[in-house]
Amino acid sequence: MAEVKNYEFQSEVKQLLNILVYSLYKNKEVFLRELISNSIDALNKVNFEILTNQDIEDKEIELRIDISFNKTKKALIIEDTGIGMTDKELIENIGTIAHSGTIEFLRKISEQKPNDINLIGQFGVGFYSCFMVAKEVYIYTKSYKKGSKAWLWKSKGDTNYTIEETVKKTRGTRIEIILKNEDKEFLEKTRIEGIIQKHSRFVPFPIYVDGKKVETKKAIWTNSKSNLKKEDYIDFYKFIENTDEEPITYLHLSSDAPVQFNALLYIPSSSLESIGLIKLDPGVDLYSRKVLIQKGSKDLLPEYLRFVKGVIDSEEIPLNISRETIQNDIKIEKIRKHVVRKLIDNLKKLKQKEFDKYLDFWKLFSKNVKEGIVSDYENRERLADLLLFNSMNNKQDYIDLKKYEENMKEEQKEIYFATGSSIESIEKNPALEAFKIKSFDVLYLTDPIDEFVLEHLRVYSDKNFKSIESADIKVENKSEVKDKKDIESFLEYLKTMYKDKVEDVRISNRLVSGCCILVNPDNSPSIQMEKILKMVNKDYKFTKKILEINPSHELIREMIRIHKEKPDSGDLKDLTYLLLDNLLIREGVVDNIDDVILRMQNIMLKAAKKS
Ligand code: ADP
Repeated sequence: MAEVKNYEFQSEVKQLLNILVYSLYKNKEVFLRELISNSIDALNKVNFEILTNQDIEDKEIELRIDISFNKTKKALIIEDTGIGMTDKELIENIGTIAHSGTIEFLRKISEQKPNDINLIGQFGVGFYSCFMVAKEVYIYTKSYKKGSKAWLWKSKGDTNYTIEETVKKTRGTRIEIILKNEDKEFLEKTRIEGIIQKHSRFVPFPIYVDGKKVETKKAIWTNSKSNLKKEDYIDFYKFIENTDEEPITYLHLSSDAPVQFNALLYIPSSSLESIGLIKLDPGVDLYSRKVLIQKGSKDLLPEYLRFVKGVIDSEEIPLNISRETIQNDIKIEKIRKHVVRKLIDNLKKLKQKEFDKYLDFWKLFSKNVKEGIVSDYENRERLADLLLFNSMNNKQDYIDLKKYEENMKEEQKEIYFATGSSIESIEKNPALEAFKIKSFDVLYLTDPIDEFVLEHLRVYSDKNFKSIESADIKVENKSEVKDKKDIESFLEYLKTMYKDKVEDVRISNRLVSGCCILVNPDNSPSIQMEKILKMVNKDYKFTKKILEINPSHELIREMIRIHKEKPDSGDLKDLTYLLLDNLLIREGVVDNIDDVILRMQNIMLKAAKKS
């Protein structure tokens, strides 16, 4: 008798099984979709091996999926002639889970929104979903490698499984699901056919149910556009992504020159990455004449487009192309170039024509667009047209750069931006006042990466980007200042007091009601940007800024007065320090907060004594 080896599931698998078995999930039928999807993968892989490799078990047999029933055993059986598994692969593939964050996330979803367990296929744990309906599962499998033995994997979905040698005539995998009493509906042929029609209409290999072939559609990307309806595209997406969600938009491309290819690409309407869970793997599969060469190829699209799903098929890519050389293949490069442009154009059109949908895209993938501007030099300008911003004149809605440019005032030469952690905080920046008065719109950058992005762009249609603190802007200050000499001498006083702290002190042309402000010397980075640089490099030293004061502001006027009457006043000294401290606190870059607190208390004490 064959030796039966007992194994314990990895603890993540145990937890997953627990979630699945006890989940309230109603839509249990998706387990079949997951198993069929695994069979397709296995068939795709063996198809590739057959075409590129000589030594294969059962080279001549048909590539197919068979579903059948054993009513006495209450078993649903799914069998494929795919790649199969060795005993070692059974342990590696079925007994373990790759992504460690997966379980935590699935547990949360299953508690909060049981119906989202639907996402299970996207986590690479689809197989286990069969335990939602199974009392026990048997996997008979035999690898495509010449001379492989056949193995039987058994589990009740609790804590362990066994593996033993078995007999199996042909290559591939046969999964027998012994159904729970309450799930006997899956023994009905019509029920199974219904599920296949609903979830698996595009299976690229024949499926037989009880020996009878089910009608399915294949490789729809090679069809001409006129033969396909919106519904076909959406159903195909649901099929390849194992999902019930519709994509935000899709794109079907066919090209004959310079390289022949067909592409069917989708922008999904949800993203695990935007929830902050994981970094997505690339989502576009490479085919050659409908044979899958590489799933989720990282070479077809640049990394920032990793959220795009779909298929690219080119007859000109040889089947035996080595996976290492795909990246540098000149044809792949041409395809990539073409597809990236088309994708960006398509998104631009979406923005113009269906802005609501574009907003859905933007909410999920704005980070990717920005990543593209920083990393894809060639398409930087095209990508710039996808950017959306809030601005002084568009606090509730969004504006793009084109619109900003159209709205620019005649005397306005630059595109202005202000940075801050939120719209509210930006609005409190006194530097904004001058722009309001001049009616120059200002882009509000609230995402820390935004300033980098604009820095990389440098210009948009020949207009420079300029932060409001660096901009050279002048407004008429209504209240005339008389005591010019006193101001001059006060300025000198400030310069001496701040000699190590600021680059210069000057009278502001931009403040109207504000008291004082720190501005950037030309070409020096903004404080926000410097904070990021500091995060990256602890030794980074902040560059010195320029302090501008508003001599018509009451506080400054009082300080000028004290300076004139009592130039050595201790109070004036405290006030002077606090004036700058205040600005540094606002920017969040104070380095001697304890001194600041002492000075404040000093002033507070004096105020208290006075009243
Ligand atoms: P995923 O398919 O997303 O990787 P699963 O938990 O569904 O996650 O499957 C785990 C692994 O088990 C697969 O990656 C594959 O290697 C293997 N596997 C599952 N089903 C089959 C099958 N029918 N034939 C061959 N290998 C399979």
